[in-house]
Amino acid sequence: QTLDKGLEKSKSSFFEKLGKAVAGKSKVDDDVLDNLEEVLVTSDVGVNTTLKIIERIEERVARDKYLGTEELNQILREEIAGLLSESNTGEDSEIALPEGSRPHVIMVVGVNGVGKTTTIGKLANQYKAKGYKVVLGAADTFRAAAIDQLQVWADRTDVPIVRQDMGSDPASVAFDTLQSAVNQQADVVIIDTAGRLHNKVNLMNELTKIKRVMQKVVPDAPQEVLLVLDGSTGQNAFEQAKQFTAATEVNALAVTKLDGTAKGGVVIGISDQFQIPVKYIGVGEGIEDLQVFNKHEFVDSFFN
Ligand code: GDP
Repeated sequence: QTLDKGLEKSKSSFFEKLGKAVAGKSKVDDDVLDNLEEVLVTSDVGVNTTLKIIERIEERVARDKYLGTEELNQILREEIAGLLSESNTGEDSEIALPEGSRPHVIMVVGVNGVGKTTTIGKLANQYKAKGYKVVLGAADTFRAAAIDQLQVWADRTDVPIVRQDMGSDPASVAFDTLQSAVNQQADVVIIDTAGRLHNKVNLMNELTKIKRVMQKVVPDAPQEVLLVLDGSTGQNAFEQAKQFTAATEVNALAVTKLDGTAKGGVVIGISDQFQIPVKYIGVGEGIEDLQVFNKHEFVDSFFN
């Protein structure tokens, strides 16, 4: 139900537009496809992914000779499920740690304001509820507020946090955090990082250094580099994904604030364009409002 609620705005906007796109038409023709293209682009699916979807539908039309507009829903559903599979988006419904070394280290990246701290807090809560031992690391040392905010979530979830003063070396905080996690035999470490994009080289250097230093403690850390994007920002989210994937090897996405936007198509577009699985979606400000993203549940919720 949380998922349905989180997608409510996107769904109603999408189907309203789709309804107009096929109004008075019984057959999928060039006009319908042009309209559909506009529906997808204005839902923030992104131009590349939109063209990919349109092309695939054109192939179907060419192959089957005739396609009724009433079949369009089902076809879109199949194509979107297909795209999510191609980017390796998963089918888990609950949080789980992959097999492999412990601690499992998650380095969280993203610009300020996208919901990074909130997402970390929600993740800590879910891992803890599953019985995992969690440690947080406040490696966004650039803003005092970032450290304090993370502390608030650490207190709220009753999870230990490793922090230093504002302005200290983020890599040093990350190193301390991993050492502390190893000493405590923690299962999961979640490291917050600074979200400054104005200097790309600095961003890359900082993230590279944090990784290198963490690997002195846990050789394959970070097993997860989670990029947090604000789903309500459309093209900005695409731009941020471009910058962060250029700066470091991102292997998971969290798309936040889907509850507040009609442009949930961003979930499909970004994972397709960057071939990175969407692992979590944020559907509200509360501690429970983070969902492990399941591609089947998503298309079910969206198309039902
Ligand atoms: P950070 O600067 O990236 O660490 O961002 P914060 O975690 O502080 O979040 C910024 C604002 O977005 C806060 O007011 C959060 O409550 C809000 N927020 C985060 N995730 C969501 C979400 O999924 N839905 C909604 N509606 N608000 C969110």
